[in-house]
Amino acid sequence: MQQDRHDINRRQFLHRLGLSSASALSMMVFGPLQALALTDKEKKTAKAALAGEGAMTYRRQNGSGEQISLLGFGMMRLPREQEEVDRLVDYAIAHGINYFDTAPMYGGGHNEDVVGQTLSRYPRDKYYIATKMSNQNQALWDFDKAKEMYENSFRKLRVDYIDYYLLHSIGGGGVENLKGRFIDNGLLDFLVKEREAGRIRHLGFSYHGDVSAFDWLLDHNDEYHWDFVQIQMNYLDWRHAGRRGRRGGDADAEYLYGQLEKLGIQAVIMEPIRGGGLANVADEIKDQMTAVHPDDSPATWAFRWVGSHPNVLTALSGMNRMDHLEENIRTFSPLQPCTEAENELLARIADQMAGFPTIDCTTCTYCMPCQYGVDIPGNFAFYNEAVTSKMLPLPEPAAADYAERQEAFIKAYRAAIPAEKRATTCVDCGQCLSKCPQQIRIPNQMSRIVELTRKKRR
Ligand code: SF4
Ligand code: SF4
Repeated sequence: MQQDRHDINRRQFLHRLGLSSASALSMMVFGPLQALALTDKEKKTAKAALAGEGAMTYRRQNGSGEQISLLGFGMMRLPREQEEVDRLVDYAIAHGINYFDTAPMYGGGHNEDVVGQTLSRYPRDKYYIATKMSNQNQALWDFDKAKEMYENSFRKLRVDYIDYYLLHSIGGGGVENLKGRFIDNGLLDFLVKEREAGRIRHLGFSYHGDVSAFDWLLDHNDEYHWDFVQIQMNYLDWRHAGRRGRRGGDADAEYLYGQLEKLGIQAVIMEPIRGGGLANVADEIKDQMTAVHPDDSPATWAFRWVGSHPNVLTALSGMNRMDHLEENIRTFSPLQPCTEAENELLARIADQMAGFPTIDCTTCTYCMPCQYGVDIPGNFAFYNEAVTSKMLPLPEPAAADYAERQEAFIKAYRAAIPAEKRATTCVDCGQCLSKCPQQIRIPNQMSRIVELTRKKRR
């Protein structure tokens, strides 16, 4: 993979703007650094970033020429305190991040408000905002209700245009659901007109699930002229998207990315580290990485792999902790593309990981709440951690250390998950199934966890 010839760093970006000094950009774009909610140390690194040292990598959006930071800020999970959100956003903007992704359904319906509040402290032309039509619930397929959701986004985000607008999470229910949500009710035609009117700058969709919906929308590209498409892509899902425990249907990222590249549609990437799963890898995987780059974390490897693909416009990372934000900014400032040897290593690692019995939960919480109280992502996160830390799989019941290992697993499980939230409370109602973008057979996986906590007779 070659680095995109359109990649530029902040120094080149400043030059194109006709600016030559950090203070000029600081004053023009961000206001005086003193006004930001950052510590002195953070202001110092921000000043260095503005001066072009350790500069963020940008990609040019094909149609408009906009320079988009290759690291985008996924705003789905944010700290509770607005002041803490402001601090993260100030640090992100001061270090060159300019793409922020939200949706009406995030944060229990409050995320757009929070995002609007924090970004509206900046001049409107200094950030790009992405939001979505989250009408997955059939009650919102009605045109007027969906239009109300669209209009609310403007109000909550405090904007009069939206830079990147997406049909949210198409794929669940295949083409039939896609047509019900967007085509038969005239909603997509309306959104295309909104783009013509300039209230939407770029129109795209995000995809999970049944690939027939993805294919249908690309087959109709001559009609809709997609400006971008958001896909799940990381070195594991490149060739192993249809792993065990799923209901099937998810296409490999290699196929999705390839289809977009053929049509010249840029990709926005979600789940570059699979909800943290590629940041917290088994020791045997980590050892292979540190043997090559002793100081680079598994997350840095995963981000570098994604960013090395030239048709990627931006890679979204949900960063609700300052240390994660700092590390990710370092990775992308500037991005060092993976070498062929590094790509080969990651492909071998992906083959190994695909054989691990983990559950493909990204902890997105789309399936929550469970009306019976099961903490679905909590149970799956605990199980995955047990696999990664080699607590699981348990040996055969006849093995000498079986009882001891199972006892340790049960003890840790009970300490981590309160009784009313454990897998045992799942009644297999199936209501969570259609909400999971990863197509996980949630009740089946809950049964597996229950089975692990049942003592076997020897
Ligand atoms: S299938 Fe189980 S986990 Fe899913 S909603 Fe029903 S009770 Fe909750
Ligand atoms: S089970 Fe599916 S919907 Fe629920 S948190 Fe995990 S990935 Fe998200």
